[in-house]
Amino acid sequence: MISREEALDLFRSDDLIGIGMEADAVRRRWHPEGIVSYIIDRNINYTNFCTEYCTFCAFYRPMGHAEGYLLPKETIFEKIRETVDLGGTGVLMQGGLHPDLKIEWYEDLFRGIKQRFTIHLHCLSAPEVTNIAEVSGLSLRDTIRRLMDSGLDSIPGGGAEILDDAARHRISRLKCSTQEWMDVHHTAHQLGMRTTATMMFGCGETIEQRMNHLELVRNLQEETGGFTAFIPWTFQRENTSLGRFVKEEATAVEYLQTLAIARIYLSNFENVQSSWVTQGLKTCQLGLRFGGNDVGSIMIEENVVAAAGAHHCSTEEELRRIIRDAGFIPKQRDTLYRTYFLN
Ligand code: SF4
Repeated sequence: MISREEALDLFRSDDLIGIGMEADAVRRRWHPEGIVSYIIDRNINYTNFCTEYCTFCAFYRPMGHAEGYLLPKETIFEKIRETVDLGGTGVLMQGGLHPDLKIEWYEDLFRGIKQRFTIHLHCLSAPEVTNIAEVSGLSLRDTIRRLMDSGLDSIPGGGAEILDDAARHRISRLKCSTQEWMDVHHTAHQLGMRTTATMMFGCGETIEQRMNHLELVRNLQEETGGFTAFIPWTFQRENTSLGRFVKEEATAVEYLQTLAIARIYLSNFENVQSSWVTQGLKTCQLGLRFGGNDVGSIMIEENVVAAAGAHHCSTEEELRRIIRDAGFIPKQRDTLYRTYFLN
């Protein structure tokens, strides 16, 4: 494992190709067979009402806003029915932090889904879980336990942004702290649930703050082994208030360098994702030689990054083509990154 100082040196280096080759070597150690995976699933954003006012977010609407919504459960069931019909194996369901939805609302929803469908529920980012615990007057452990009992299968890494409280104070001062994000994932891992770790960078943070983030998730992975993957992406500035201050989005070089350093530093993570949704297909394809072994989802629906200006779209056929063209074998996976039972 490389040290924090060595990783910081890589951030200061301009040897992009050398860093990429090092990351590719780590990728090859985990995936010598050259498989690059993807998933067919659907993002469902059950509500855009939110009380947190994150400055990088173009998705939320304050309570009472005319454009705010809370999807009826029947609509959610209908979206899942369509997902299953299209060969989807999972649902990634996230929303704003709604102050009126107690745990019973989520339990009823998850039970209703599991009664109707065989589908993996990858739902509720750490800030949502913290919010549900708070609104319901429950401990974190009891909240996650009850959500698991009602059908929640895993927790996505959303809401991490940069795990450094000074950086969070600038971009999401009301949302959960670094420690609270870590506590949700730690508790979930202790209860036997897998989660993912994400990082949204390029929002004005320093490389030291990026390293603080990487160090925290590496240490937790060392302790629990509960993360299935690390998924970095860049801040999308369109329609956001933070976009008035951060005038330039991260370039492809910055993305590839950070992706590669994450792959090298997080050598205890089996999977690292190269994102086409925020970076576009061509940069995503290059990312497969900068440490990425997964391209994420053929998204049947995505609202959050689309609201902030990422409008890339693709098909399963196109993703398989870019994977093959980069010299890899495309394979569909499930939410837990298992490819063995799919084509
Ligand atoms: S990022 Fe999430 S918590 Fe922050 S304002 Fe948007 S919906 Fe709310």
